[in-house]
Amino acid sequence: MTTFSLDPGPDQIAVRDWLHGFAADVIRPAAAEWDEREETPWPIIQEAAKLGIYSLDFYAQQFFDPSGVGIPIAMEELFWGDAGIGLAITGTTLAAVAVLANGTDEQIGTWAPQMFGTPEDVKVAAFCSSEPDAGSDVSALRTRAVYDEAKDEWVINGTKTWATNGGIAHVHVVVATVDPELGSRGQASFVIPPGTKGLSQGQKFKKHGIRASHTAEVVLDGVRVPGHCLLGGKEKLDARLARAREGTKGGGRNAAMATFEASRPAVGAQAIGIARAAYEVALDYARTRVQFGKPIIENQGVAFQLADMKTRIDAARLLVWRASWMAVNNQPFTSAEGSMSKLYAGETAKFVTAQAMQILGGNGYTREYPVERMHRDSAIYTVFEGTSEIQRLVIARAISGAPIR
Ligand SMILES: Cc1cc2nc3c(=O)[nH]c(=O)nc-3n(C[C@H](O)[C@H](O)[C@H](O)COP(=O)(O)OP(=O)(O)OC[C@H]3O[C@@H](n4cnc5c(N)ncnc54)[C@H](O)[C@@H]3O)c2cc1C
Repeated sequence: MTTFSLDPGPDQIAVRDWLHGFAADVIRPAAAEWDEREETPWPIIQEAAKLGIYSLDFYAQQFFDPSGVGIPIAMEELFWGDAGIGLAITGTTLAAVAVLANGTDEQIGTWAPQMFGTPEDVKVAAFCSSEPDAGSDVSALRTRAVYDEAKDEWVINGTKTWATNGGIAHVHVVVATVDPELGSRGQASFVIPPGTKGLSQGQKFKKHGIRASHTAEVVLDGVRVPGHCLLGGKEKLDARLARAREGTKGGGRNAAMATFEASRPAVGAQAIGIARAAYEVALDYARTRVQFGKPIIENQGVAFQLADMKTRIDAARLLVWRASWMAVNNQPFTSAEGSMSKLYAGETAKFVTAQAMQILGGNGYTREYPVERMHRDSAIYTVFEGTSEIQRLVIARAISGAPIR
C-alpha cells in the first residue's frame, strides 16, 4: 500500500503541468465558442488524442498510479480549462470504467481501446444506465435483456436517457435487467458494438450547462448482441443470479453501482476544477476592481467570501484525494468516503461559482466573463453520478447501518 501523501511526486507534477498547458492553451480559448454551439468539440478531442491526452493508455496510467491522485489531478486541470469540453474529452472514461469494473480481461482488451479510436479517427463511448423512470432509483430499470440460447445472443429492448455521448458513441455500455424480480440484483451490463442494428439516438437535450458535452436518449429496439458482449460472462452472471435468488450474501452486486462507486472521486475532481477556475477569476477581479476609491478586495465582506471559497476548494480536494487514494489502494469505504468527496466537491463548485458571480457584479452576469458559464456548468455536479441527496443517503446508511429511506 502506498502512503497517502499531500505532496504529489515528480510524475504527478509533470502530468499536472502538461495538462494545465493544454487546458490553458487549447481548451480555455475555445470554451465560449463550444458552449454556444452546443456541439461535441471533435477537433479538440482529436488534438487531445494526438498529444496522448485522449487515450486509453493515458487514463489507465493515471487510474493505476499508486499515489492514487493521478486521476483527480488530471480531471481538475482539464475541467479548470472548461467543464463542457472537459466532459467531451473524458466522458468516454465512464464507459471504460464500466468495462474495467465488470468485464473479463478479454473484454477489456477488446472494447476499451475501441472506445477511444485512434488519433486519426477518434471515437467516444457512452455509459447508459439512467432511464426516464429510473434515475436515482437504479433498481427500477426497465430495459430488458433476454438470452436467446439457440443463437447465443442477448436481445435488448428499452429506452435510456441522459446518456453522455449517447447515440454518437462508437461503443455503448448498457445496463439492463435480466431478471426483473431481483431488482438491482438482477441487472447486468452489455457492450453494444459499433454499428449494431436497433440502437438509435432519441432526443438530444439542450442543457443549462456543460453544453459542449452531448447528452441524449438512446433507444434500444430489438438490439441483438453476441453472448460475449455480456460483461463478466454468462457463467458469472448465472452464479450471481443464483445467489441473489437464494438471498445469499454477495449476490447483490449491482453493475451500475459498482461503476458509479469507482468514478465518484473523479467526478468530484472535475467539480474542483470548475470551482478553482471561478475562484481565480474572482480573486483577480477583486484585486483590480476599484469602488469607493479602493480595490473591492479591501472590503472584509469581499475578502471573507474569497477566504471561504478557497477554504472549501482545498477541503474538497482533500476529500477527493483521500477517496481516490483509498480506491487505488483497495481500502474499504466504510463511511462512503467516495460519496462524501463527490457530495462536498459538487456543492462547493455551485457555492464557489455563485460567489464568483457576485464578486464580479454586473460583469459576472454576462457572457463577457467566464464565471456565468462556470456557474451553469457547476450545477450538474449536484445532479449526475448520484444527486447530492443520494450521496447523503449513501453516507448516512454507511455510517449508521440503518435502513434510511
Ligand atoms: C447532463 C447529464 C449527463 C448525464 N450523463 C449520464 C450518463 O452518461 N449515463 C447515465 O446513465 N446517466 C447520466 N445522467 C443521469 C443522471 O445520473 C441522473 O439525472 C441522476 O441520477 C438523477 O436522476 P433523475 O434525473 O431521474 O432525478 P430523480 O431521481 O427523479 O430525482 C429528482 C429529485 O429527487 C431527489 N430524490 C430522489 N430520490 C430521493 C431520495 N430517496 N431521498 C431524497 N431525495 C431523493 C433527487 O435528489 C432529485 O433532487 C446524466 C444526467 C445529466 C443531466
